[in-house]
Amino acid sequence: MRIRNFARTRQFVVIAAGLLLVSGCGHAEKKQARTAGHQLAAGAKARTAPRPQQPPAERKINCDQLKCVALTFDDGPGPYTNGLLDVLKKEGVRATFFLIGENVHSFPAEVRREVMEGHEVGDHSWNHPQLTAMSLPAVKAQIQRTQDAITKASGGIKPTIMRPPYGATNKRVGQTIGMPLILWSVDTEDWRYLNTARDTRVGIKEPQAGGIILFHDIHKPSVKAIPAVIAGLKKRGFTFVTVSELFQNRQLKPGQTYSELMPQKTASPAPVTASPPPSGSPAGPAPTKSGARPQQAEGH
Ligand SMILES: [Zn+2]
Repeated sequence: MRIRNFARTRQFVVIAAGLLLVSGCGHAEKKQARTAGHQLAAGAKARTAPRPQQPPAERKINCDQLKCVALTFDDGPGPYTNGLLDVLKKEGVRATFFLIGENVHSFPAEVRREVMEGHEVGDHSWNHPQLTAMSLPAVKAQIQRTQDAITKASGGIKPTIMRPPYGATNKRVGQTIGMPLILWSVDTEDWRYLNTARDTRVGIKEPQAGGIILFHDIHKPSVKAIPAVIAGLKKRGFTFVTVSELFQNRQLKPGQTYSELMPQKTASPAPVTASPPPSGSPAGPAPTKSGARPQQAEGH
């Protein structure tokens, strides 16, 4: 039902949304260009490599109108993160990284680069325990220690979203974490197969509008799949957004879990007597979307 409404709305607003997107990006680029110019002058004077001091501005992207998808990478940073960042930069794609505190400690430069290149960073605990099996003070320590490490490595950015390891959470854990809990709608299971061809196939085929795709940038085959995944999803008409951009028009609640962008509820629902649009018409039923997935699994 919601898919059909969404498809119907989308065809009327896609052009306006496209214009909005273009103007939003232009603004960000202008701002970046100004910043870069500034730094060039400062760098020439100081004879040191210029380094951006502020992340680029958040973009205004209306994912209720555009076909958005959020690429997310868990468990890093690691030795392949820089290569992934090169790809994302080349493709103009912003992603979200759910970071392990221990790895932030080992790869702080990668965290800073993620932030400065417009990606979002989220908390994924200090060392990946199952939080539902821990005492609440221990849960709190897992989160706080990671928040502190990310803030230090990134030069002042404090994550506002969290992804519990294995997707394992409950009411008490959620309350203790005190941030919105971001799960996923597409589990590529890249960690299980470690197979670039499979990662590519799943990563292109499965996402739906508003989806959140789960990859791991600590695995080389996963990172190798990303150029083809991006190309395939671009071909399918997707706009790549960070998690916070995806939920820009929503008020996310601390302790609640979110796996995808759900279409906004309309103020006046269609009358029950309305006849359905003809099958096969643009407003006709969209392909069936698989239901909610079990959120607890190995390896996330
Ligand atoms: Zn994980």
